[in-house]
Amino acid sequence: MSEEDQLTPIPERAVANAHIRGMHNYLSTWEKSVDETDAFWGAEARAALDWIVPFRTVLRGSLSGGDVAWFPDGYLNVSVNCLDRHPASRTAIIWEGDEPNDVKHITYGEALAATCRLANALRTLGVRKGDRVCLYMPMVPEAAYCMLACARIGAIHSVVFAGFSAEALRARVEDSRCKVVLTADEGLRAKKVIKLKAVVDKALEAEECKCVTAVLVYKRTGGAIDWKEGRDQWMSEAMEKERPFCAPEVMNAEDPLFLLYTSGSTGKPKGMMHSSAGYLLWTAFTHRYTFDYHVGEVYACVADIGWITGHSYIVYGPLCNGATTVMFESLPTYPDAGRYWDLVSRHQIASFYTAPTAIRALMKYGDAPVKKHDRSSLRVLGSVGEPINPEAWKWYYEVVGEGRCCVVDTFWQTETGGHMITNIPGCQPMKPGSASLPMFGVRPMLVDPQAGVLLEGNHKEGVLCIGQPWPGIARTIWGDHARYLDTYLKPYPGYYFTGDGCRRDGDGYLWITGRVDDVLNVSGHRLGTAEIESALVTHEACVEAAVVGIPHDVKGQGIFAYCILKDATEETADLIPSLKAAVRAAIGGLATPDHIICTPGLPKTRSGKIMRRVLRKIACLEADQLGDTSTLADPSIIPLLIEKVEKAL
Ligand code: ATP
Ligand code: MG
Repeated sequence: MSEEDQLTPIPERAVANAHIRGMHNYLSTWEKSVDETDAFWGAEARAALDWIVPFRTVLRGSLSGGDVAWFPDGYLNVSVNCLDRHPASRTAIIWEGDEPNDVKHITYGEALAATCRLANALRTLGVRKGDRVCLYMPMVPEAAYCMLACARIGAIHSVVFAGFSAEALRARVEDSRCKVVLTADEGLRAKKVIKLKAVVDKALEAEECKCVTAVLVYKRTGGAIDWKEGRDQWMSEAMEKERPFCAPEVMNAEDPLFLLYTSGSTGKPKGMMHSSAGYLLWTAFTHRYTFDYHVGEVYACVADIGWITGHSYIVYGPLCNGATTVMFESLPTYPDAGRYWDLVSRHQIASFYTAPTAIRALMKYGDAPVKKHDRSSLRVLGSVGEPINPEAWKWYYEVVGEGRCCVVDTFWQTETGGHMITNIPGCQPMKPGSASLPMFGVRPMLVDPQAGVLLEGNHKEGVLCIGQPWPGIARTIWGDHARYLDTYLKPYPGYYFTGDGCRRDGDGYLWITGRVDDVLNVSGHRLGTAEIESALVTHEACVEAAVVGIPHDVKGQGIFAYCILKDATEETADLIPSLKAAVRAAIGGLATPDHIICTPGLPKTRSGKIMRRVLRKIACLEADQLGDTSTLADPSIIPLLIEKVEKAL
């Protein structure tokens, strides 16, 4: 089937009221957004944000200079934009705890009062503008208050996913020299207790963490914890002492809002630093357009606040837009595989945002757990984190969305702050597996990685760069601007380098082919991992696949594939040949894997991304050089894989 045939029309009922309608309106708005930058983004920033001191300059600096600054003479406070200015009686957060009947509706007024108390408590602890505060919090509303409390007083938060080890936490606290850590006694997921305070205690034992003078502890479970007098304090007690009003700090548009360490699927974590105004504008703007958000609707992103997705699309973007945003503490499979759809039906969710890894995991359980729940409130279904293979896309679209909803495949990164390439409901027909077209303000460029020249026109493939600054770009790597320049801005001078490969098809749609580091070179042909993995997943027995390159005497690189089979699939003698045949049929003989092994699991980061770097080492029989695996969700899979590979080779 040609790509043109794969265009899936916009489901009309889903977008009857869309902010922007039709391809021609999309194109004319996009052109304005990239050509008349000052006029377009100046108007957006005035309309979308409340300023204490209005800006006069829209954009200063350049990608080549590494000194991009948006609205640099304007002043505002992010927490005021996310809380104070919205009707106090409107629901800001619907929190659903680990148990489906544990639900809280929190108004903007309540969220503001709690945020102010916490902000005052932080000030009492001596936290001032520019100080760093570390969050190691479960998915509770207090986590959002903590972020916003930092924003209120101009402190820079650094959220560390509450599943990382003490060592990973220590490294992040040390790198940013945090003054205070905000945590909870324990977290709860599918009844499983996660001992958060114990991890904090362990991390802070280290000499390098002496910068931390106070720990505030939110009581989630009431489980037994150790207590360090003089350092530890219950969050609730610290808040009770303070009044629910806190004068917001006047922040320059370019003052840092937060640091977030990237998940580390490719190496040593970097503390990406985001700005106040540009970041906030970018998240609010993209939240509004990508999800076609209208005030009054309930919107749910089921990521964790420990990731950029949680920052931008649970907290900052939605709250800046005055939305009702869902915070979900549990797992998609607890108490059963229908939990997401139960959530959708009980809260009448209009847009739902998750990751391909979750979709694939749920597909394994079949359609029944989905169909049990009413999903008629849904209009937009979002995907983020990695390329969504067409099989999973179709299941999301047809089974979950009943063909009535727009699926938006959002390509972006921690570094970009918000969506960069995505289809927009009401604007463009969809293509399963393609992130589609650029967000307003984004000028994607394909560059030939060898020659460094621009690849213009359709039917081109290269590395993906962005040709001009957008408001949400991370401004630096904390404490290492040189590394920021080297990683993102110097490889292709004048452009921002994403590190991802991309193909532009005959319709101008963009297809992310995977990380450039993962691209295979087989007999001189460059093959993206995403394409081969998608082909494997078209096989009825295979639910998830990961492909890496290994040295090959003749071809330069050979292809090694790891496949997860559907539950209860038997590894019969003809299984591997038929998996190979599926790849041959979809792509061609060249892409046929040299080796396939079946495995019950894959090494993934805590955010659900496959660590191909680890798989590559295992496939190359270099398991003694795995590198940093501290961000792996379940390291127990590694010895199993090593054993299987050794047997197979
Ligand atoms: P690190 O940079 O530390 O290795 P990471 O890149 O996994 O970690 P993120 O910033 O969370 O951390 O992820 C961004 C990357 O995820 C992108 O560069 C891209 O490879 C992939 N990605 C995200 N969304 C999509 C999407 N919709 N389609 C394809 N790839 C995506
Ligand atoms: Mg990355």
